[in-house]
Amino acid sequence: MTGTAYAHTSVHDAAAEISKPGRLLVVECEDCGLRQTIPSRVEEGHVDCVRCGALLSKRTTRGIEQAIGLNLAALIVFVLANAFPFITLNLQGRIQDAEIVSAAYALYEDGMWELGLLVFLFAIFLPLLKILGNLYVMIPLHMGFRPPAARQVFRWMEIIHRWAMMEVFLLGVIVGYVKLISLATVIFGIAAFSFVALIMLVVAAETVFEPRTIWERLQPSPSAATLASVDQRELISCHGCGLLNHAPDAHGYCERCDARLHHRKPNGVTRAWALIITALILYFPANIYPVMKLNFAGAKQGATILEGVKELLFGGMWPLALLVFFASVTVPMLKLGGLGFLLVSVQRRSKWHPRERTKIYRIVDAIGRWSMLDIFVLAILVALVRFGSLATITPGTGAISFAAVVVITMIAAESFDPRQIWDAAGANDER
Ligand SMILES: [Zn+2]
Ligand SMILES: [Zn+2]
Repeated sequence: MTGTAYAHTSVHDAAAEISKPGRLLVVECEDCGLRQTIPSRVEEGHVDCVRCGALLSKRTTRGIEQAIGLNLAALIVFVLANAFPFITLNLQGRIQDAEIVSAAYALYEDGMWELGLLVFLFAIFLPLLKILGNLYVMIPLHMGFRPPAARQVFRWMEIIHRWAMMEVFLLGVIVGYVKLISLATVIFGIAAFSFVALIMLVVAAETVFEPRTIWERLQPSPSAATLASVDQRELISCHGCGLLNHAPDAHGYCERCDARLHHRKPNGVTRAWALIITALILYFPANIYPVMKLNFAGAKQGATILEGVKELLFGGMWPLALLVFFASVTVPMLKLGGLGFLLVSVQRRSKWHPRERTKIYRIVDAIGRWSMLDIFVLAILVALVRFGSLATITPGTGAISFAAVVVITMIAAESFDPRQIWDAAGANDER
């Protein structure tokens, strides 16, 4: 079997090939490493891994046209959300308004360019890049050709996916709003409503199609029958696009998306340990030093993350206090503890409930981004509360350590390969 023949098939042939009724594919589960046969087109519900329960494929109700339409609508709404003031603050007749970009810029102005850059990337640039990248690949495919570098572009879309955090930013705006209403009048602008619509459009675009559909249209996977004749040990599942590559010498690049081929993420355990230890060290300054400095009518005061939670709690906002506590304190600890536990279990070659441990990994991986909440709250407060000696909020040194903990633990979770849980338990011994 060799896939080079597929690279020369036209987009129309690819579309015809993948829509053949009863066509079967072999996929390797990304969570446990089990290879299994699934229908190339799921007619109802979803197909889960028979061993670990990971989602392998789902029915996508509509085609690429709807995904293009939703992404185009998202692009228009994105412009509205970023061109107009997001939120306006009225403090004793003095007005301060802020666009989304002001939240990033205010941090930069206050000397924390690293934080400003993170907010800009996660709330503005990467969401926009994702919309543009999707359109760049989907529109030509729909018209019947592959645009230049389509496979590299689409692979990057999947990499940046978890770093686009508009919904976390929105939650940050809500928390910021609640913190400000006791201080001043807060009015949401047209951009805020556009931003909510933008998030809904992006979510809708993600539910009408799955990346596999695009990968198969770029280059169809070999059928299950073709793969049956190949030595299973010579197949490597690509981390980028999920294609099973025939790589007898166990290295090289994926023939569909050009990602480097590895049986498992390279040095996953060592890298994850190094990142966890770094994050653990930074966790202390992140909680000891103030994340923001408040200056109200000359009274200066620093606030750590816990003090921010306490303030919400004593203000009677206990659901929100609980939420911020969960996102800022519990989630980082769960991530560090959970990943540490998984790494130790893999190193000890534990056979204890691999399915449950895989679930722990999925939770750790999914909740990580929500810890950015406090950084977004900070950005919004800093952008809005700038009334000189009357009231000013500036970022504190703890914020940089805190943001570093969030980013480093996210990378640590990404470095770890959950298939090693199953390798260590001896579940993948057949190859
Ligand atoms: Zn699995
Ligand atoms: Zn690939």
